[in-house]
Amino acid sequence: MITRIYINQVKEHIGETVLIKGFVHNLRIQGSVSFLILRDITGTIQNVIVKSNADAFGFVKKLSLESSVEIIGKAKKDPTRENRYEIEVETIKLLALSEAELPLAVFDKNETETSANIRHQNRFLDLRKPKNSLIMKLSSAFDRYYREFLFNEGFIEIHTPKTMPTPSESSSDLFEVKYFDRCAYLAQSPQLYKQMAIASGLEKVLEVGPIFRAEKSFTSRHATECTSYDIEMAFIKDHNDIMELEERLIVYILTQIKKNYGDEIKEIYGIDVKIPSLPFPRITMKEAKSIVQSNDLESDLSSEEEKALGDYYEKQGYDFVFLTDFPISVRPFYHKYYEDKPCTKSADLIYRGLEITTLAQREERYDVLLNQLKSKGLGQKDIQWYLDFFRYGMPPHGGWGLGGARFIMKLLGIEHIRDAMFIYRGVNHLNP
Ligand code: ATP
Ligand code: MG
Repeated sequence: MITRIYINQVKEHIGETVLIKGFVHNLRIQGSVSFLILRDITGTIQNVIVKSNADAFGFVKKLSLESSVEIIGKAKKDPTRENRYEIEVETIKLLALSEAELPLAVFDKNETETSANIRHQNRFLDLRKPKNSLIMKLSSAFDRYYREFLFNEGFIEIHTPKTMPTPSESSSDLFEVKYFDRCAYLAQSPQLYKQMAIASGLEKVLEVGPIFRAEKSFTSRHATECTSYDIEMAFIKDHNDIMELEERLIVYILTQIKKNYGDEIKEIYGIDVKIPSLPFPRITMKEAKSIVQSNDLESDLSSEEEKALGDYYEKQGYDFVFLTDFPISVRPFYHKYYEDKPCTKSADLIYRGLEITTLAQREERYDVLLNQLKSKGLGQKDIQWYLDFFRYGMPPHGGWGLGGARFIMKLLGIEHIRDAMFIYRGVNHLNP
């Protein structure tokens, strides 16, 4: 019995008879020889079928693109192209025939992109494209290196509930769900429960999980459901500790991605993964406003201003910048405020002009927290269960929420967040 190898292993088996399996990526039928490009999750390879192999030669003439097949043949070096390999086909077996008419071209040498609508209606075919399966590999790598780094730092992974009795962030952008005879909310963030983990004495926790935002906006950076990469940690000095941890995390993830996927990224996207140097630049909101020439000191940066700030730093060779000292008016009640200015001890991490993280030190003093809640016009009663965390020696703490899909978007220069996730959820996107 011959065991299956993956296409990227063929080069280790030159001269041997091998078995490969995959999808028919492309076919070129000629008079005396036919070429079948086979694709598996590791890559593509040319398979040569000569006319004298009558069974196989006749078979490929009836084959449709994207059918799945297995091929047995001899592994060889491609005589015409360096570092390329091919299979001299002995037998081909059909595993499943594809319908001849594809709703979108998986292999398209003219790169005429099908409309986003059709691609996302047929996402399973869209994801067969090597450039898209690479996005899935990188999302998985991001998950893995995120956890790897934080486990090495002593973090404990938790899983918080996604149905909540009260809103976690703000009372807008909420999905309400029927919860037996009452109403529950889908979690906009694990914020309140991460802080419970701090009150529970777990000290350093991480979570990778879904967040839900009923944002009726049609931007290229918002999904209604996405994966948030969170941490919360206790006994910090202030939000600078959180920034220092996050910049080391980003360098770790990018270093691992470059090492393990750098060649594939270069080949498919033409991008050299850049490892940023430490520390990342830090700039206050006030300074940022003057760089982007805005006079409105009380508001958050608009997305255009965020982009302008990103361009300004990219010109100086920085992909990442921490934006600090946000006005109290644009931050939630639980952020820690400075004593001497109307700002919060918080920051956003901007990656090539897009916010990918909000982080902060949290207010841990019960009375102060209650005051901050009230001065934002919020009621105490519904959130008393959360306030109770702060009554029994809550240590100073802080954390972040990081959008993984936004990170992947910026890494690969993807225009729209829907293309940086497995299945996108948006206002008009509930299928598939
Ligand atoms: P924005 O201002 O861009 O709408 P936000 O400030 O509302 O984002 P946060 O509540 O700070 O978002 O969430 C932390 C991180 O989670 C964000 O920096 C972002 O990377 C990610 N994130 C939040 N909401 C979304 C969303 N709707 N789609 C994709 N990612 C999101
Ligand atoms: Mg934010």
